[in-house]
Amino acid sequence: MSATTAPAAAAPVAPATGGHVEVHGVHKSYGTLEVLAGVDLEIRPGEVTVVIGPSGSGKSTLLRVINHLEKVDRGFVAIDDALIGYSRRGDTLRELKEKQILRQRTQIGFVFQSFNLFPHLTALENVVEAPVSAQGRRRSEVEPEARALLARVGLADKADARPRQLSGGQQQRVAIARALATRPKVLLFDEPTSALDPELVGEVLDVIKDLARGGTTMLVVTHEIGFAREIADQVVFMDAGRIVEQGPPADVLDRPQHARTRAFLEKVL
Ligand code: ADP
Ligand code: MG
Repeated sequence: MSATTAPAAAAPVAPATGGHVEVHGVHKSYGTLEVLAGVDLEIRPGEVTVVIGPSGSGKSTLLRVINHLEKVDRGFVAIDDALIGYSRRGDTLRELKEKQILRQRTQIGFVFQSFNLFPHLTALENVVEAPVSAQGRRRSEVEPEARALLARVGLADKADARPRQLSGGQQQRVAIARALATRPKVLLFDEPTSALDPELVGEVLDVIKDLARGGTTMLVVTHEIGFAREIADQVVFMDAGRIVEQGPPADVLDRPQHARTRAFLEKVL
């Protein structure tokens, strides 16, 4: 190494570039119920895709298969050309070991409707946990980043609070900081504001908008249509396990081509 080599830059608290997500021919059934009936979706690096659709249409299942929280029956998910949950040898796919899956999941931040914070851990400990336990990073290195992430979501002063001492909006912001802590390439949000009192929705949407501007690849399931119009590069309408319509927000939300999309939008707008 030459003496003129620049020192490594300080670790960023969020990824500089997002990953490229490919969902290809994905089928998923529970018993006889086909929940994903052949889903193809591409999200280009740094783009924000908003998924809308009626309850039971398969939106959460789509997010969960991307994260390998659910296994696909057919098809595959890849991020930056790496298969999620499997390794390929010739024509055969082999499921990764649990530890490898956990490690792979650190590339994908997941924010749940119900926050899902560890109730016995402080806000700071919630954010520190995955980088240390799943990525094997040193706590001393992770902690300053975790504090910076809490500051980024407006909670610098809540590092030592436990979830029950926080409002729903604050808990969800901790959950977002936690999702960012592993420096994921992709962020998945499953109705992140649906469990919040109406007056707390805005503070969470503001944080997500801020992230959307930062170049992270995002997939957001939401019923907040105004928000979708603001942040989405593409909007996807799902019904009965299929993508019925997709395109720029101005097309899908304002000039929907399909009767089912129109019927859905009339209900939620
Ligand atoms: P959405 O998020 O669009 O409301 P989901 O993906 O949660 O839809 O669910 C789609 C369908 O799959 C629903 O009918 C739901 O009841 C069913 N489903 C989801 N998860 C399971 C499961 N683990 N076992 C059985 N059925 C499930
Ligand atoms: Mg859902």
